[in-house]
Amino acid sequence: MHGCDPGLSTGGSGRCLEHWKGPKPVTRSKTYVDRRPAAQRRENAAPPGSGKEKKDVSPKRTGLTVRLPFGGPIRPEGPGEAIAAGRKPSEAPGKTRNREIGKKGRAEKPLLNASKPYCANIQHCQQASTHQRDQIMQITDVKLEMFKWPREVPITNGLYTYTHNLLNIVVIETDDPQITGIGLAGGIEASPEVGEAIIGHFKKMLVGMDPLDNERIWREMWRPKLVGRRGITTRMLGGVDIALWDIKGKVAGLPVYKLLGGYTDRVDTYVAGGYYEEGKGLKELAAEMASNVELGARAVKIKVGAVPINEDIERVRVCRETIGPDVRLMVDANNAYRHYEAIEFARKAEKYDLFWFEEPVEPDDYIGQREITRATSVPVAAGENEYTRYGFRDMIDHRAVDILQPDALVLGGITEFMKVAALAQAHDLDIAPHGSQYVHIHLVAAIPNGLILEYYRDTVDPMHGKIWQHELYIEDGYVHAPDRPGLGLEPKWDVLEEFRV
Ligand SMILES: [Mg+2]
Repeated sequence: MHGCDPGLSTGGSGRCLEHWKGPKPVTRSKTYVDRRPAAQRRENAAPPGSGKEKKDVSPKRTGLTVRLPFGGPIRPEGPGEAIAAGRKPSEAPGKTRNREIGKKGRAEKPLLNASKPYCANIQHCQQASTHQRDQIMQITDVKLEMFKWPREVPITNGLYTYTHNLLNIVVIETDDPQITGIGLAGGIEASPEVGEAIIGHFKKMLVGMDPLDNERIWREMWRPKLVGRRGITTRMLGGVDIALWDIKGKVAGLPVYKLLGGYTDRVDTYVAGGYYEEGKGLKELAAEMASNVELGARAVKIKVGAVPINEDIERVRVCRETIGPDVRLMVDANNAYRHYEAIEFARKAEKYDLFWFEEPVEPDDYIGQREITRATSVPVAAGENEYTRYGFRDMIDHRAVDILQPDALVLGGITEFMKVAALAQAHDLDIAPHGSQYVHIHLVAAIPNGLILEYYRDTVDPMHGKIWQHELYIEDGYVHAPDRPGLGLEPKWDVLEEFRV
């Protein structure tokens, strides 16, 4: 690829350092919308006499707290920290609490919330912690809001035709009226009632739990003997987990990408499209690609696999000639090929300098993916239909692909996505998430092996730019991470209402 000197190859990705266009650390200074402690924001948000003010006087709510990094528990401020803050040591709640929990003190178990010890049985756990409930933020409600709107012209990829776009929003209410978590869950067009039933099942265990305990909540929801390990269950679990991270960011007053690692604040981005449509020939396909480049894209993707291989090669040729040699070009077969067909396609397409060949075969055909990877110089990418760290562990063990494409809305949320990202990092593999730019912008920006963000525009979604208060825009090939606390997802509920399922 790129005519690279073999000596400059990065190995795992097949690209070379000389032409590497992945993310670089950016140190651009920023001012966040609200970096004050959450307790302070809440106090200001509900003025006395408004009827909405809270009467919580727990250490956490009064600001006399110290938050451990990366999702750790909130612990009371200790005597030394009280002195540093200009208060008397006796005012430090941690001093009193240390007496309560004995001589061992909190330092011996810094990652456990002493007021809420871990318990594998959620009912026992909830009962054990009720006496400390005033110190713990609580989930009060969990809802799945589903929306669906028609497309003017159906779009087709290698295997499927889409007549509508879907949006599944998971809303988690808390006992703090100022903080609501907004998450997104993977599509379930054929069975919305199943998604609602699963969320209802989760709700029974979630209400009363601390939304900041994402690891414990993930474990309780996923336990395989109860509801399943993959499929719609895990997609709904992912929606809940994403909403929990939105809450975590809002409590901390930070965007989620900062909580997760803050590797950069802008990410390389490609525009996905190039679907088959009725009446769309080579001329229209070329016009779409030119329009993407005009929008600011420095990388574009098209679909393949629905027509004979030579016809798709012709589509690839036209796109390469339209965008020129410097814009990266990807193709996506959406599982349409057998492995020998995919090898034929890849070898014929090599001369058009493809950045990757996505999902050439069935997602479970790890051996077929490996055959393709070894038979062509085009990097193979996959993972949008894979679930949990266990699925990605198996993909990696098989050396199935060059680039991993996890989708937090599918695989089990942000908590699980970060484990997949770490697993990939340990194998020198890059992450190029599938879909949902509004969530994945945070995840690509957080990690050092985030390769590129997928971006859907109005050519794929007719409601693009109309349903969120804050839109993401491509600027010279990049999208900037949102500054707002949490994920920055604010649905326009009034616009969405007419599309409710
Ligand atoms: Mg795909």
